Amino acid sequence: MDRVYLDYAATTPVDHQVVLSMIPYFENNYGNPSSIHYLGQSAEQALSLARQRILLLSGAANAELIFTSGGTESDNLAIRGIVESKNENKHKILLSPVEHPAVSNTCERFKDRFIVNKLRVDKYGLLDIEYLKKSIDYDTLLVSVIWGNNEIGTINDIKQIGKICREKNVIFHTDAVQAAAHLDINFGESNIDMLSFGAHKFYGPKGVGGLIKLKGLKLSSQITGGSQENNTRAGTSNVPLIKGMEKAYELLHEEFDKNDNHKKHLRDTLIEGVLKNISGSYLTGHPDKRLPNHASFVIEGVRGQDLVIGMDMAGFSISSGSACKVGNPSPSQVLLAMGIPEDLAIGAIRVTVGKNTTETEVNSFLTELSKLVKTLRKSM
Ligand SMILES: *Cc1c(COP(=O)(O)O)cnc(C)c1O
Repeated sequence: MDRVYLDYAATTPVDHQVVLSMIPYFENNYGNPSSIHYLGQSAEQALSLARQRILLLSGAANAELIFTSGGTESDNLAIRGIVESKNENKHKILLSPVEHPAVSNTCERFKDRFIVNKLRVDKYGLLDIEYLKKSIDYDTLLVSVIWGNNEIGTINDIKQIGKICREKNVIFHTDAVQAAAHLDINFGESNIDMLSFGAHKFYGPKGVGGLIKLKGLKLSSQITGGSQENNTRAGTSNVPLIKGMEKAYELLHEEFDKNDNHKKHLRDTLIEGVLKNISGSYLTGHPDKRLPNHASFVIEGVRGQDLVIGMDMAGFSISSGSACKVGNPSPSQVLLAMGIPEDLAIGAIRVTVGKNTTETEVNSFLTELSKLVKTLRKSM
């Protein structure tokens, strides 16, 4: 049976052109970029080119890019790196209540030494801007707000949030792991100090990502050793994966408009289809300020997990929220923060399309989901 994959927010397959682009760096151009001989310098050149191209495509030509092992490490480096750099004597961290665990659990770690406060969101999961303004004070070191939400698809007004932080002289970090995969992000125009992204959300390999940061912003390195990555992240650079990420990012930008329209069309078909076919179903997240490939719902009288398992048996891969909640039946903190009642939040699913998803796949998904919901409701 052909499987229908509708979980592109969890991960994507690696594009074949990306696979091909990495091979030379495994087999021929295998030097250590820190070596001063020819092969080393050849790898260093390839690395430097990847850095420049990714920065340019992110509207960040004047910023700095630190390569990491992925979105999670980038989030960790941003938060821990600032908190531990102690370049300012401030003790408050503000974060949205709808962050990815890579941000929220990392901030939690500093609760003994820092005041870690959650901001507010509205019913769509959009950050409450007035509450942010009120919450920032003289003691605030860092604000972290997700750009495009992995669970509910909502896109925050990062430029405005960044502007407020800059006016108040607070460091601003955004988790743009989803945003970088679907939006034409512009670091330079968005008043951001630090931005996290990861390659496997845009058809690149797993285990590689980056943190873009303003030049001059001091981060305490979290992996100590050699002087790689401008003394911020020690260890021999993973040249093949970084070159794969560069290729994937270039392809993403080349195909941007075409894929954007395709994804939005399928997303809207999914949203209209579910809301029309299934009584007691509600869209979660913002109706239009949302990622182009992202549809998410809560459905009355069923459990998200049962939907994921039932749809899996029918050949469809979807998610009950984020990929990081395997085996955890308690309702999502993200949905609760938006004011969705617990008994409804249990029935959450996330359906995310990719550039090669077809209309036929989406339609057969809609038919199968309606059937499953009816069956599950009868058995309750
Ligand atoms: C996937 C994801 C992460 C984690 O990135 P990894 O590269 O898998 O470590 C962090 N934040 C968001 C919003 C994500 O979607």
